[in-house]
Parts: sequence; C-alpha cells; structure tokens
Amino acid sequence: MRIILFGPPGVGKGTQAKILVDKFNIPQISTGDLLREAVSQGTEVGKQAKAVLEAGQLVSDKIMIEIIRVVLKSDKCKNGFILDGFPRTVPQAEALSLLLVQLHLGIDHVINMEVDEEEIIKRLGKRMMCKDCGKIYPIDNDHHRGDARCDSCSGELFQRDDDKPETIHKRLLVYSRSTFPVKKYYSGLGLLRTIKATGTVEHVNNEILKAINHK
Ligand code: AMP
Repeated sequence: MRIILFGPPGVGKGTQAKILVDKFNIPQISTGDLLREAVSQGTEVGKQAKAVLEAGQLVSDKIMIEIIRVVLKSDKCKNGFILDGFPRTVPQAEALSLLLVQLHLGIDHVINMEVDEEEIIKRLGKRMMCKDCGKIYPIDNDHHRGDARCDSCSGELFQRDDDKPETIHKRLLVYSRSTFPVKKYYSGLGLLRTIKATGTVEHVNNEILKAINHK
C-alpha cells in the first residue's frame, strides 16, 4: 500500500497518517517531521531549513527530493508507505513519479483531504504537538497549554512556531500558490480520491478507508 495524504496544513494529514500506520503496518513519512528533526539535530539540511520553516515557506525541491529518495529506498518502506506533506510542488510530484518508476513501484491512492479555510485557521491556532511522539492535540482551553502532556507517552506538548497566527496565513498562501496545483497533476493520473475532512477523527478515517476501498 502506497498512499499520499494531500491537503492544506491543518487538514489532519498527520493525525490520519498515524491511524493508517497502525492499521496497515506501514510507515508514515512526514517530511515536516523529518525537517524538524534535522533542525533540532543541527544537521546540514537542518541548518539550511530552519529559517525557511520558521517563515512558513517551502524548503527547496532539490533538498526535499533528495530526502525522499533516501527514505523511499530504505528498508522501512519496502512494504509500502504513507506520504504526509510530500509532494508539495509539481516538480516534487514529477520527481516522485520518476523515482517510483526507477524503483518499479507505483502510488495506489492520493487522498485529497478538504476543509474550508476558516476551519483550518481555527484548527492550526489551537494545535499542540507532543515533543516525543509527534501526536497532535487540539487544545481548546488556553488555561491548559502550560501543563498539557501527551496521553500516549506523557511527553511535553508544544505549539509549533509556524502555527503562530502570522505564519499560518503565509503557509496558506504558499499552499494555494505552490501545492494546490499538485492536485491537478494527480487527478490527471487518475489517482485522486477526494474526501471531506470534517467531523470526528474516526469519521474522517472511515471516509479515507472507503475512498481506498477498505470498507
Ligand atoms: P508540515 O509539518 O508538513 O506542515 O511541514 C512543516 C514545514 O516543513 C512546511 O511549512 C515547510 O516549510 C517544510 N516542508 C515540509 N514538507 C515539505 C515539502 N515537501 N517541500 C517543501 N517544504 C516542506
């Protein structure tokens, strides 16, 4: 099973990817997580990416394609993968197609997750993430931000720098300019399955399973 979860920031790709990981026993490849890890480890890529992430812009296609090439060729992806946050530009999508041809593999489904912009802004503004396992939480009450802990691993929860209001708007602009056209690329290939990503996490997951004929 090789799936791409596609959609704007805050649509729920990370949350749904984690459920699909457990269901299908294949890894989530989140390029955002890989970049944040590189930043916190201070690697060469991390040093180059830090300011770009903070500004809500896209890291260069060259760097991203190289990251994906290494990961998809690794052993952990041999039974499939869930791509979360890649591709984000048409050149990335084209490079992915080429790489998969070289590996004699193909994408099974591109799940296009849709939510209106107002809802996205609301969700991103209250999103917290576990420092240790990456689990995502909506925090409704400002009061709880300080001492909130992950209910899976007790890790500390934090708000991503790029989820601050001023950066959210920039990221949505980048999405509509650079990432939205990727949708057309995959609909042209007949791989796009569009779902409404509103309602409970379980409901959205059912929609995804239906879209990929697993329900
Ligand atoms: P995410 O966690 O998917 O929201 O990604 C966080 C940030 O990482 C994005 O705002 C970009 O700065 C960067 N990023 C992640 N994936 C990509 C990609 N495929 N291409 C370019 N930049 C990316």
